[in-house]
Amino acid sequence: MTALDFRTYRADAPDAQQVHAEYDALEREAREASSAGEARAAVARWDALRRRLATWQSLVGIRFSQDTQDSAAKAALEQRDAFAPQLTRRDVQLKRLLLASPWRDALAADLGPQALALWECDVASFDPAIEDDLVRQARLAARYTELLASAQFDFQGERLTLSELGKFAEHPARDVRRGAAELRWGWFADRQRELDDLFGELVGLRHGVAQKLGQSHFTPVAYQWMRRTDYAEADVARFRDEVRRHVVPLATEIRRQQARDLGVDPLMAWDEGLHDPRGNPRPVGDYDGMLRSAAALFAELDDELAAFFAQMERCWLMDLRARPGKAGSGYCDALPDLGMPFIFANFNGSKGDVEVFTHEMGHAFQAYCSRDLPLIDYLWPTSEACEIHSMGLEFLAWPAMEQFFGADAERFRRLHLVGALVFLPYACAIDHFQHEVYARPDDSPAERAATWRAMERLYLPHLQWGDLAHPASGRRWQSQLHVYLHPFYYIDYALALTCALQLWVLAGADRPQALQRYVQLCRRGGSEPFAALVASAGLRSPFAADSLRDAVARAADFLGLEPAAR
Ligand code: ZN
Repeated sequence: MTALDFRTYRADAPDAQQVHAEYDALEREAREASSAGEARAAVARWDALRRRLATWQSLVGIRFSQDTQDSAAKAALEQRDAFAPQLTRRDVQLKRLLLASPWRDALAADLGPQALALWECDVASFDPAIEDDLVRQARLAARYTELLASAQFDFQGERLTLSELGKFAEHPARDVRRGAAELRWGWFADRQRELDDLFGELVGLRHGVAQKLGQSHFTPVAYQWMRRTDYAEADVARFRDEVRRHVVPLATEIRRQQARDLGVDPLMAWDEGLHDPRGNPRPVGDYDGMLRSAAALFAELDDELAAFFAQMERCWLMDLRARPGKAGSGYCDALPDLGMPFIFANFNGSKGDVEVFTHEMGHAFQAYCSRDLPLIDYLWPTSEACEIHSMGLEFLAWPAMEQFFGADAERFRRLHLVGALVFLPYACAIDHFQHEVYARPDDSPAERAATWRAMERLYLPHLQWGDLAHPASGRRWQSQLHVYLHPFYYIDYALALTCALQLWVLAGADRPQALQRYVQLCRRGGSEPFAALVASAGLRSPFAADSLRDAVARAADFLGLEPAAR
C-alpha cells in the first residue's frame, strides 16, 4: 500500500448524467447477456461503479463530520443526499433485472446465494410508489432530530445540550443526578404532545408503506429494510424471552448491589447511571500515549490487526480528538476504492474514549478484512453481525486495559460488563414495544404509553421513576432516537452483544482460539446471513435456547453475584 495521506485525499463528485448513462448501459448488458460470463462481467462493472460512488459518498460524509461549519462540505453533503434516492432506484432496477435473468443460478453459484437473497430483500421492500413516503419519513425524522438538538439547559453553571446534560447521570452527588433528571424529563414533558403526534405520524406513514408493498403491517417491511434474510419476528420474540429468563434476574441483582454500593434505598431512576461511588475510571496518559497503548494492544492480539492499525495511523485514517466544529459521536466508514476504512471519534479523556476506540476499530478491521470479497454487498454484513466485530473487540481487548487505565483496569472491566448486562433488557423492551406499536397502528398515544409501561414491568422490574411524570406516564422511549429514526434497529445491539459475550467467555478459557475465531469472522464479512456467520464462528445463535446461559453464569461469577432464581 502506498503512502496515502487521507488528510489531502479528494474524490470528485460524479457527473449525474454520466452515472445514469453508465446505469443505462449496465441495464442493457444485464438484459441482453447471452452467457453466464457476460452476466458476470456486467455485475463486475456494476460493482466497480458502486465502489466508486460509495467511496465518494463516504468521503463527503466524512469531510462534513470533520468540519460541520465548512459551507463547501455542507453543499457537497446536500448534493450527495439529493442524488442518493436516484442511485437507490437504479440499483434496485438492476437487482430486479439480474434476479429475473436466465443467468441467475450461474450468478448465485459464482457470487454465493447471499447476494441474491439481499437483492431480493431490497427489491421486495422498494417500489416507486413509496418514494414520496420515504422522503416524508426522512422529513419527519429530521424534525425529531432538530427538536432534540434544539434543547438547551442551564445547569451547574453551564449551558448544555441534551447529550451534555446526560453526563450528570453519572455524577457522584445524588441531588445533582436528580436535578439533571428533572430538567431532562421536564423538557420532554413540555413537548409531550408534539412527540406523541410526530410518532403517530411516523407509525401511520410506515403502516401505509407496508400496505402499498402488499404487507398487512409494517414489521416485515422493516425486517426487509434491515436486510434480515434468515430470521423473523418469532425468532426475535424467542430471544427476548431468553433475555427475560436469564438476564433480567441478574440485572435486578446488579441493581440491588448498586443500591448497596451507593448507599441508597430504593435505587431510583436517577441513580442508575452511577455504578461506582468513586465515579468512573479515566484513561491514564495523553492522546499520544493512548495511541501507543493501542498499538501495544493490537500487537498482542493479532499480527494482521497490528499491521492494520499501523497503516491506519500512517495514512491518517483516524480523526479521534474532539475539536470545535466536529460532528458528535463516533463511527467507522469504508472507502472501498482505497481498500481502507476510516474512523472518527471525539476523545474527551473519559473511559468512553477507550470503548469507542476499540469498538470502531473492530468495525474498521472487519471492513479491511472483507475488502476483497467479490461484491460491495459483502463489504459489511447486516448490522446485528457488524456489531459482533465491534463489541467483540471491546471484550477481547480486556487484558490490555492496564495499558489504558493503570490500577483502575479491573474497575473498568467490571463497569464494562455491568453496562453490557443491564443494556440487554432495555434493548429488548425497546424492541418488544415497537412490535406492539406496529401491530396496532391505530392505538392512541395513551394506549402506546400503557404498552411501554407493560414493557418496563416485563424487562425492567426494578425501575422506579418516582415523581418524574413524563417517563412515569410510559414515555421514556421518546428519548430513544432509534424508535423514531431507525425502526427495529435497536435489537441488533442486543443480538450482537449476545455473541460478543460468548467470545468473552471463550477468551477466558482459550484466548488464542477466541481471537482466531474473531479474525475468521471478520474475514467472512457479509458473505453469509447472520445465523450462518454466527455458526461459522462456533457461536450459539441468539435465537437458540439458552444462548445466554453460559455468559450470564460466567458474568455472575465474575461480578460475585448470585442471580435470583426464576
Ligand atoms: Zn458499532
